[in-house]
Amino acid sequence: MNVAGEPSFRESVDLMFKRAVALMDLSPGLEEKIRVCNSTYTVRFGVRLRGEIKTFTGYRSVHSEHMEPVKGGIRYALSVNQDEVEALAALMTYKCALVETPFGGSKGGLCIDPRAWDEHELEQITRRFAFELIKRDLINPSQNVPAPDMGTGEREMAWIADQYKRMNTTDINGNACVTGKPINLGGIQGRVEATGRGVQFALREFFRHPEDMAKCGLTGGIEGKRVIVQGLGNVGYHAAKFLSEDDGAKVIAVIERDGALIDDKGLDIEDIRQWMNKSGGLLANYPRATFSADGPAALELACDILIPAALEGVIHKGNAERIRAPLIIEAANGPITFGGDEILRRRGAVIIPDMYANAGGVTVSYFEWVKNLSHIRFGRMQRRQEEAHHALLIQELERLSDEKSLGWTLSPDFKSRYMKGAGELELVRSGLDDTMRSAYNAMREVWHGRQDVEDLRVAAYIVSISRIAAAYRSKGL
Ligand code: NAD
Repeated sequence: MNVAGEPSFRESVDLMFKRAVALMDLSPGLEEKIRVCNSTYTVRFGVRLRGEIKTFTGYRSVHSEHMEPVKGGIRYALSVNQDEVEALAALMTYKCALVETPFGGSKGGLCIDPRAWDEHELEQITRRFAFELIKRDLINPSQNVPAPDMGTGEREMAWIADQYKRMNTTDINGNACVTGKPINLGGIQGRVEATGRGVQFALREFFRHPEDMAKCGLTGGIEGKRVIVQGLGNVGYHAAKFLSEDDGAKVIAVIERDGALIDDKGLDIEDIRQWMNKSGGLLANYPRATFSADGPAALELACDILIPAALEGVIHKGNAERIRAPLIIEAANGPITFGGDEILRRRGAVIIPDMYANAGGVTVSYFEWVKNLSHIRFGRMQRRQEEAHHALLIQELERLSDEKSLGWTLSPDFKSRYMKGAGELELVRSGLDDTMRSAYNAMREVWHGRQDVEDLRVAAYIVSISRIAAAYRSKGL
């Protein structure tokens, strides 16, 4: 989204980067090397569809190769352009460094309205786009590994993986050329929900720190907090569902393309999603909440936590003064412009920045890539051994209780939960939780530890840029 009088998305990311490096001791040369986008490949290709040749434009941008492969999603939207893809690739570099996934940053996009084409047509278009990228090693298990983003999902990733394997029949690691695949094609449990789950884990960690909550005047836990979510797609739906169902948050508004649903008593996210599946993604006419056709205005309603989870640039100089949420967690990439960010900070809002907040996706993508390279499901070797080990302890406790006539009885619920070994989903969630906690604490140390760092975004950039700078220095740059 372009906001009049504001920098573009890429310029906004650069300005945020510069706010952070102004507080760091980097040589100007190294600073420039880290900031710039290494390369952007633009491809225009034709596909014969509906009796004529249609031409499509796509991009794959590589921001930093200080670690390889480089990683980043592929977006399908009419608004895709070079500036946006480069901004998103830069965010991927910083995000991967912050959550310690060993990748450089990349991003891709195709200018297309996916809803305008049927499934077979989309497959032809995706395979052709993938062909163009694969032949230039812009999709490759050891060099560049895409994932889903706005407008793409498991289905597109499956086509891309299959296309790669057709073109590289002897590559035993072919499945690792892309992540976010369906389970039956080498995907991993918990990837679809990962970004939304990461938003939940990020908020849980934030609410473990009363001093952090005090910065925006919040107290207590997530339970009962009034939440507004923009975008009920992959990220927004999972975040809203988990926060309301697991943590007792009250989602009082959801905002989609055609407007917003509002209910102060709390919305049923699963019910709304079922409705959207039938209505073609529209909220209007949903019978169990108030509908307002002015979606953006709902961002300004009073709430405790605002979760923009749709697209970039939605909070800007024009509306930031009216945003009332004390806590904003950027589930989308770049939802707050540089100008909007300045206004919100001045007004005392705490912003949990995108490069951290939505890093759950790339974290679980990393687990999927490792799974593909190791050719074995997580937990397959250990699970039953772990269960046998736990059973041993329970048997011993029961034997002791009998022998000493202690009369102990372990509750059946405890026994079954304790005995259960971790499968892939449990391990993925544990790894994701650990990642989100560690990365938050790395940011937090800088946020609280330095007088000159006022906000979490600058803290996140400082952590991440320091790590990238260290990688470049070790390479002799
Ligand atoms: P998605 O396509 O699944 O969902 C996007 C949702 O936003 C859709 O429901 C769409 O209808 C809605 N939307 C579009 N324009 C809107 C508008 N103007 N107002 C309100 N709603 C609107 O996409 P997603 O994968 O959920 O991605 C959302 C954001 O999260 C993007 O910024 C993306 O880069 C970021 N992200 C996604 C992932 C991932 O794993 N999918 C990971 C990290 C970051």
